[in-house]
Amino acid sequence: MNADLHCHSVISDGTLTPEVLAERAKANGVELWALTDHDEVGGQQRALTAARALGLPYLTGTEISVTFANQTVHIVGLGFDHLNTALTEGLRRTRGGRSERAQEMSEGLAKVGILNCYEGALKYVGNPELISRTHFARHLVDTGVCSDTSEVFRKFLTEGKPGYVPHRWARLQEAVQWITDAGGMAVIAHPARYGFTPNEEYALFSEFKAHGGRGVEVITGSHSSQEAVRYAETALEFGLAASRGSDFHSPDESRIDLGTLPWLPSQLTPVWELLADRIQ
Ligand code: AMP
Ligand code: MN
Ligand code: MN
Ligand code: MN
Repeated sequence: MNADLHCHSVISDGTLTPEVLAERAKANGVELWALTDHDEVGGQQRALTAARALGLPYLTGTEISVTFANQTVHIVGLGFDHLNTALTEGLRRTRGGRSERAQEMSEGLAKVGILNCYEGALKYVGNPELISRTHFARHLVDTGVCSDTSEVFRKFLTEGKPGYVPHRWARLQEAVQWITDAGGMAVIAHPARYGFTPNEEYALFSEFKAHGGRGVEVITGSHSSQEAVRYAETALEFGLAASRGSDFHSPDESRIDLGTLPWLPSQLTPVWELLADRIQ
């Protein structure tokens, strides 16, 4: 099935509205869609309404920022009740501190002569509670400091670079519980993107599973074909269902468009088989 269960709108760090994303998903042949804004479910009702009008089956979604072993890990939630108060409160707390972090990022960049980045980044922000590194990256590209967003991350926004400010996000257990208690499924996002040692990665998967996590992204816009093979094996090893999502953010920035991913390997259990009764 052409499921695409990971993408971002203007409610977090994407550049399209939930309505335009729904149309794009439908036009690209997506058969099951989820909008997964970072630490936010504020776009869920709009996405659901737009999907319904297009006859596009929909799962609610979010992508929660988690700190695990001193690194940031992303946990996707699918098929939950987006009005659940423990979840919406938990996400509100997870979003907290982003403005202060952004101001510190701006101070770091000012020290290397790049001034007023906080104000610059704010121009790209669609949700005042969700200023992210991506908005800084867009500002630095549009002002000619870098030629694309990955150059901005490499030179300025990753650990050890002038605009990097470490941040404490949600705990793994909390994120998994918020999603699960709201009736949904927790999924480890793009596992190949973390810089874990084999022991740390084993700990992430074991603890995730112990807390009630049930899925892992195998096919994602941020995995190579070798990485997909590797995490297909990990899914089998840990008895996790497999997910598929482009992580689409913007027509100008994203390499992989909605609905254009390789198929999920056939030996895996797709997350949507376990979420059949949560599809709207
Ligand atoms: P934040 O939640 O503010 O730390 O921002 C994280 C977001 O930055 C991710 O969700 C991606 O959209 C984006 N991002 C992270 N690393 C890169 C990179 N190397 N190139 C482009 N975008 C990135
Ligand atoms: Mn993002
Ligand atoms: Mn992510
Ligand atoms: Mn994402």
